[in-house]
Formats: sequence, structure tokens, C-alpha cells
Amino acid sequence: MPRPGLDPAAVEGLLQWFANEARDLPWRTDRSPYRVWISEIMLQQTQVETVIPYYQRFLQAFPGVEELAAADEDRLMALWAGLGYYSRARNLQKAARQVVREHGGVFPEEPSTVRALPGFGDYTTAAVLSLSMGQDLAVLDGNVARVLARVFLVEGSVKTGPVRKQLQALADAGLPTGRAGSYNEALMELGARVCRPKPRCAECPLQPVCGAFREGCQEEFPSKNETRVRPCHPCVVLVVRNGKGQVLLHRREGKGLLGGLWELPSIRSLVKLDSNPATPAQLSSLLDQARAGLPEAPVGAAGPERHLPVFRHHYSHFSIEVHPQEIEREVQELPADWRWVSVADRDGLGISASDRRILEDQGA
Ligand code: SF4
Repeated sequence: MPRPGLDPAAVEGLLQWFANEARDLPWRTDRSPYRVWISEIMLQQTQVETVIPYYQRFLQAFPGVEELAAADEDRLMALWAGLGYYSRARNLQKAARQVVREHGGVFPEEPSTVRALPGFGDYTTAAVLSLSMGQDLAVLDGNVARVLARVFLVEGSVKTGPVRKQLQALADAGLPTGRAGSYNEALMELGARVCRPKPRCAECPLQPVCGAFREGCQEEFPSKNETRVRPCHPCVVLVVRNGKGQVLLHRREGKGLLGGLWELPSIRSLVKLDSNPATPAQLSSLLDQARAGLPEAPVGAAGPERHLPVFRHHYSHFSIEVHPQEIEREVQELPADWRWVSVADRDGLGISASDRRILEDQGA
């Protein structure tokens, strides 16, 4: 099942941030396809500050696609000199000639036609069509990839095909219909100015939904290596209900990763899983241990039990494959570090992200 992207409230926060913080850049004042296209090609591998004077001189010399198509090659190269990657300028002119020859000088609207122009890849196609024509296409450049890899804890190098595909799917899934231009620019701007390699999370509108911020591992994402293998351990978590709308929580001891937090009773195996899920025998044994760890254990099968959806949760150095199990128990005498908690009580307690997810999924 594809993962959902940013939820609508997070996208609204991002767009609001962009409306307040967007830099005043020359290519943002006129959104014709030609101008967006020139700026996007110049900005590939080149800093914004460097591009600005080049962009202004280029537009003065070649204000439209016809002038670029007819330009003298020496003049074109002289105007590009210093920006590097000269094939970009040559492809610009080739594409301009194609637009004039095959489309009467009007920039095409069909993504596959645009994608076939010299110098156009997926990114440039989506950028030009979304920013200048409002087409619902999400871009994925290095800045957007860094933001999404952190928010959704996407592992693996963003240079690999499967990871890029995953990130593109996340970018697509969050795209608000009819507002692709602002959404794309906002994500790119956020990556360029806030979610930088050294992120400034205090200024970030996505902080409330960011997995890397929550886990404190921002700089581990995106991964530098081709693959990032974290050990993954099976874990059984009990959602113990007492029939009065309450669930049983236990305060974790110590100063470790989750020390002092209130948590659902659980047991984590030291066994490391590979890509396969835990076996039924492993789970059955873990479940017995988890039940035996409850106060007044063993308490017998007091009510029906139910398997809840399994998920993987990532910490900075390991992952857990969480198998939540809902059970009913009457436990009268609770030790000091255990308590029954209702939804209202729960909001005031420190509860780990993984347990909070289980409770929210169950409406507990
Ligand atoms: Fe990036 Fe920090 Fe924002 Fe997460 S909270 S998206 S790591 S700047």
C-alpha cells in the first residue's frame, strides 16, 4: 500500500510558511514557461545568488524562445560563460529550436512531449509544467528529497532508483490539487533554507510531523550509503483494556532512550530479523512473556484477544517490528509504576511515538 504523504494540515502550514518567507527572486515575478525553464536549467548545480545576474542578462539578450532559437552560438556561450556545464546552454538552444519548429514557438503542455525535449528530465518537466501552468506534478530535487527523507524516515541513498521512487510517491501523495506550483516551491525553499544538511528545526513548519525531529536523528537522513541496514527486532505490545475505556500503562525505568516514559506493556526480542517478518513461534513465545510480565500475572485468559496491525518503527540505530495485541484484563492491585489511563489522562503523559501510534490507531 503506498504511504500517504504530508497530511493536509501539514501542507497548509508549509504553504503559509512559504507565503510569508518566499525570497523575492527575478524568476518568480513572471511565470511564463520560457522564464521558468531558463531559471530551472540555470539553477541545476548552481547557487541562486550566482544565477541571478546571469538570468537577468540572458533574458535581456533572449527575451523569448524565438530569440533563443535564432541566437548566435558564440553569443549564447559568452552569456553562459562562468555558469559551467555548457551542455545545458547547448540543449537550451536545441530545445528552443524544436519548440519553434514543431510547436510554432508555443511551449507544449503534454508532459511526455516536454520530457522528450533536449535537456529535460523528470524534474525539469514537472517544475516547468507545475510552476508555469499549474499542472498537478510534484517535483523531486535534492532539497525536496532531503526534506521528505527526514519527515518520513526514508532509509537508503536518495541516489538509488527504489528510494527515489519512494520519495517521488511521497511527494505526489501530499500534493494539494490545483496548488502544485506553491507546494513544489515551498518544499524546495524549505530544503534550501531550513531543512539544510544542518537543519534549523526550530524554524520549520513541518516540525510537528517530522519523524527525524521526533527521533532526534535529523542528520542521519538522507543516508549517505547505498543501503542503510539497521537491526530490526520483533516486539509484542499489549493493549490491555479493562472494559471501562482505559488502557494499562507502565512507567519505564532508567535514563535510556525511552527512560521515564509511560508505555504499553511490551517485550522486545534480541533476535534480529532480516527482511522476513517474525515467525509465529517467535511471536507466540514473546506474547507469553509479555502476558507474564503484567501485574498479578499470570491472570488467565480473562477476555478475547485480537491482533492489531503490524508496523515497523525506526530508532536511530535499530528498528522494531511491532505486533500489538489487544487483550482484556481485570487487574485490581497495581504497583506504583503502573496505571489505568483514559484518553483524557493520556494527553498529559510522556508516551513514546510508537505507543502513541498504536493508541491513536485504536482510538484508545
Ligand atoms: Fe527538516 Fe528539522 Fe523540518 Fe524535519 S523538523 S523537516 S529535519 S528542518
